[in-house]
Amino acid sequence: MVLLEARNVGYKYPRSDDQSISQVSLALNSNSLNVIIGPSGIGKSTLLNLIAGYAMPQAGELLMNGARITQASWQRGIVFQDMALYPWLNVSQNITFGPRMRKLPATQIEQRLTSLLTQTGLLDFKNKYVYELSGGLRQRVALAREFINQPAILMLDESFSALDNHIRKEMHQILLDLWTSSGNCVIVITHDIDEALFLGQKIIVMNGDPGTIKQTVVNPYFKSNFDDMTSNMAYFDFRRALLALIE
Ligand code: ADP
Ligand code: MG
Repeated sequence: MVLLEARNVGYKYPRSDDQSISQVSLALNSNSLNVIIGPSGIGKSTLLNLIAGYAMPQAGELLMNGARITQASWQRGIVFQDMALYPWLNVSQNITFGPRMRKLPATQIEQRLTSLLTQTGLLDFKNKYVYELSGGLRQRVALAREFINQPAILMLDESFSALDNHIRKEMHQILLDLWTSSGNCVIVITHDIDEALFLGQKIIVMNGDPGTIKQTVVNPYFKSNFDDMTSNMAYFDFRRALLALIE
């Protein structure tokens, strides 16, 4: 079922002469894991901000469940790379901040927290403060803090790009687990082809001037690791073709 639809969306920043994105159309289903990949400056973050409802497109329209997106909502969360966790709150308090603000019942918050702490491997850290955590652990808190809201759409804007390779792979697995149990629509932005191939059921390539969607491909190698594919020629052909679209 189509959850999010973009129809010929265009956007230009108020004090800019150039269009940042143009004629962007896509349709994403609920319970889907999507990757948007493209070179730096092509408008990926701009598109996410429009989907989040932080800004409104000047052309076209963005619809969620058929209704036009007109404002920000907890139903559409973004995890940023430089996530701003609250330094004066511990891990549990950071994660539960959103549902507490929305005044969800305490027992429900506690249930969601416990399962998220387990899934993200943060149980032993639940009473620690953010400054006591490594970058990888902070990123887990940032993920849990968004997933606890159970948003319809959860977006990650290059969230893992500053992490070491092996920690990034851990995060990929955690994200996959969280998505599998939540069943929401996740949109991952990356410029890393191997991240896209591992995480994307659907890979959406942005490119052009102004930025637009060049191609959407269903990824036959979803959940396949680069390191495990060293002898698979078809994988490398697919990867090369994808790279050609991006570069
Ligand atoms: P990406 O996330 O793909 O790297 P962005 O969405 O950040 O790209 O940027 C797309 C284009 O919009 C770029 O040309 C960038 O310079 C421009 N842009 C981004 N943010 C602003 C802003 N606040 N004001 C003016 N132009 C901006
Ligand atoms: Mg960006």
